[in-house]
Amino acid sequence: MKRSTVIYPPAVIGVFGSGQLGRMLALAARAMGYRIHTYSPDHDSPTGQIADREVCAPYEDLDAVRKFVRQVDVITFEFENVAAAVAQVAAEEGVPVRPGGHVLHTTQQRLREKQFLRSAGLPVTPFAAVHSEEELQEAVAQIGTPAILKTAAFGYDGKGQMRIDAPEQALSAWNTIGRQAAILEGFVDFACELSVVAARGMDGAFAHWGVIENVHRNHILDLSVAPAQIDPRLACEAIELARAVLEKLDVVGVLCVEMFLDRRERLLINELAPRPHNSGHLTIEASITSQFEQQARAICGLPLGATDLLRPAAMANLLGDLWSNGEPDWSTALAIPGVKLHLYGKKEPRAGRKMGHLTALAGTIEAARTKVLQARAALAEKPDSVQR
Ligand code: AMP
Repeated sequence: MKRSTVIYPPAVIGVFGSGQLGRMLALAARAMGYRIHTYSPDHDSPTGQIADREVCAPYEDLDAVRKFVRQVDVITFEFENVAAAVAQVAAEEGVPVRPGGHVLHTTQQRLREKQFLRSAGLPVTPFAAVHSEEELQEAVAQIGTPAILKTAAFGYDGKGQMRIDAPEQALSAWNTIGRQAAILEGFVDFACELSVVAARGMDGAFAHWGVIENVHRNHILDLSVAPAQIDPRLACEAIELARAVLEKLDVVGVLCVEMFLDRRERLLINELAPRPHNSGHLTIEASITSQFEQQARAICGLPLGATDLLRPAAMANLLGDLWSNGEPDWSTALAIPGVKLHLYGKKEPRAGRKMGHLTALAGTIEAARTKVLQARAALAEKPDSVQR
């Protein structure tokens, strides 16, 4: 590795987006002596609370973007929908964007992402493009039902998705998502959902945290457990798929591959996230190097850190719904040995909003799962709000 390509602390990492992913990157990067600047339209954001500098401006304000870019040494994203214009400005200013604009371009749009995966020979959920009523009918004929109609422009956490159980429901589903460019996906009757969070360095080095098993509720990640209890042969296959994705996309940074394991033991890629992922939050406690430290290392050109899992781990998300009776009493969860609390500093606990998470480590996968669920249930049980 050429020393000149390495961005050493106390260089400034610039993050577009200011949510919890940026916050946890900031915590890890600051521990290593980096400085963090964050750019988003929001004030007092989860990332901004930890960052050295929080710039509040619209993503479309390219003058503000340019000013921001000039004050940082490397740029990364935790919110990908602004990538193209930012990548262009960064290129003009000679500031590296990692992962690169091409990765963001491909993964920003479901159709492009699926087409990339298919053309790379990687297994994906069956899909067809929908840009018109005619294409919609063709897609339904080709894919069949049940199916899921998803907007091509990325929604997140199940937003912009409609399930179609019979062909005659297709048109109203498309109307509901605003007749936008869409993708019709075959509904996968999966045995389980899996993810591989992996990283690739500037020198092409590859690291991963094994396979994580995920449970979603209302299309939002609810619970992650590592290591996934699957056949080791399938685990190797899943990791090799992730390796192929990172290599073929020429990723520098962290990327998560979300997959379904279907009833015939086939792995099918559902989607890619070109950044640390909710299912990888458990790496903060469970691994020698967390996904966030790894992101900092990768984008700064440092060697990747060891990713051994130290103990079985489980992570449960804390959504805004948990606040329906006021602020939960955190001591009820923290009284359980091995349970860790992460709160993202968000002020408004809206239903479905990711406010924080719990991680539990234990001697077995089952014990970790039980512990984290027990801890979350204890928080939900508390009827009275805590007086502060
Ligand atoms: P996505 O936004 O595509 O990640 O979807 C969120 C969640 O919806 C997934 O994690 C699955 O639980 C479910 N889902 C999405 N697409 C499909 C599919 N083609 N078949 C079955 N379930 C799906």
